[in-house]
Parts: sequence; C-alpha cells; structure tokens
Amino acid sequence: MKLEQKIESQVKKTLKKIGLKKDSKILVALSGGKDSISLIYILKKFGYKLEGIYIDLKMGNYSQRCLDVSREICEELGIKFHVYDIEKELGESMLKIHKRIKRKNKLNSCAICGVYKKWIMNKEAKRMNVDYIATGHNLDDEAQTFFMNILKGAPKLSANTGIITKNPEGIKTGKFIPRIKPLFFVLEEDVRKYAKLKNLRFIEGKCPYSEISYRIELRNFLEKQPEEIKENIIKNFEKIYPRLEKMKDSRMKFCEICGEPSRNDICKKCQLMRIK
Ligand code: SF4
Ligand code: ZN
Repeated sequence: MKLEQKIESQVKKTLKKIGLKKDSKILVALSGGKDSISLIYILKKFGYKLEGIYIDLKMGNYSQRCLDVSREICEELGIKFHVYDIEKELGESMLKIHKRIKRKNKLNSCAICGVYKKWIMNKEAKRMNVDYIATGHNLDDEAQTFFMNILKGAPKLSANTGIITKNPEGIKTGKFIPRIKPLFFVLEEDVRKYAKLKNLRFIEGKCPYSEISYRIELRNFLEKQPEEIKENIIKNFEKIYPRLEKMKDSRMKFCEICGEPSRNDICKKCQLMRIK
C-alpha cells in the first residue's frame, strides 16, 4: 500500500473507533510541526468541520516561525484560525513564566508549558463551542508515554491517554472538551514522509527551549529501536487499556480559582500562577 493510503486509512480507522461524526466541530491544536500540520490537512481532506488554534507562547523567533506556518496552512485550506497570545491574555511570555517558576521549583520547561497549554486549550475550546480538541500526537509519542509510565511504576497513569481522553462527569457539565489523537497509530517517520510528500510547510528541528528530561532520554532510546518495537508497545497498551480504564479515577473537581477541570481544589496552572 502506498504511504498516503496507509496513513489515511490508519487515521480513518482511528476516527471510526472514536466514533467521530461528520458534523462534529473540531478544534485542531497547531504547533507548527509536521504532526499537527499533517493532521489538519488530513481532517480537512476527510471533510470535517474544523477550526485551528495556535498558542503563541511568545518564545522569541521560534514561536513566530511556528505561528507563521500554522496560519499559512489554515489560510491555504480555508480554515478559521485563532491565535492565543499568552502575553496578552495572561500577562507573561512563556520564557518569563519558565524563569519565574524555576527559581522556586524543579519543573522542566516542557512540563510547565504542558500545564499551561492544556488549560488554555480546554478553556478556548469551550469558548468556541467545539465538540473535540484534536492534537497531533503520533505513535512514537504515545509509545514513549506508555513506556515511561511503566518504567516509573505507574502504568495506571496511562489510563488518561489513548485515542480519546474523556471524562464523563466533565463532559456532562460542559466543562471538559474531549481530546482526540487521530494520528495515534501512525509512526512518526511516516508522518514526516507524508508531510513531505504533500509539500506541507512545517518547522523542523527541536524547540530551543526543551530540556533534557526523562521523557527526552526515553525518546532518544526509542528512536533507535526498530518500528516493530514501538508498534508492539502500542499493541500492548491496547491490550491492557480496558483494565487501566477500570482503574481510572474519573471523579472530577473544578478549580476554585478558575473553574477549569482539576484533580485538586486548585488546578496546576493556578498553582503555578501563584509562584512568585
Ligand atoms: Fe515548551 Fe517544551 Fe514545547 Fe518548547 S518543546 S514549546 S519548552 S513544551
Ligand atoms: Zn485554576
């Protein structure tokens, strides 16, 4: 099978498993990288109702380049494009946030960005009234997460991953927008080849602000493994997922400060905002 057909049929199967309806409104989280750019291209090709969002973390030239390619693909495909400017909305660039938090805390840059991005994405998705948030996580990303949770001795954490992250209680109250990962079964290398094949413009290379972390070391290790190893990790994830799901704590609280979904009384983002 040709690469194009292979990838598109993998995505189609995943969307079928998720049960996505053609009239669902999807907000695609764009980062400027090959994954989210290919994702929005494929979803548009399949005829879904889409909007795109780029969270501008204001991390210098890197953020600007990623913003430009994200805007470009939306313009080309005729998709409404939103930019969330973190400096305007929250009063600080991500570079300042990193600096402020790291003076008091050992969290690494990506962990800090992750907390903010998740919070922003859910809040914006609600404001835009969409049914789903789609992210460009690929098979390699997911194999890393699952493997990392096993090595940490906490496989239960993987109950929150999978092709769709939903929380019935949060969805019922309209406060949680389910996140879907249509590229879940697509190898990273295949996504790269697809983006090149389709002449999609994306930002290559790593973000200059990412730091060496356990996840990155694991990524470097897995990158050297044959494709079957990564595919086997995901196959194993699928096998044990039903059991993980049963162990999942699906109670959901809402942050006392911002009202967003949270495991604790105060959400992680509001906790980080408090660090001076
Ligand atoms: Fe933030 Fe890490 Fe992404 Fe850079 S790679 S933008 S530091 S999450
Ligand atoms: Zn909060």
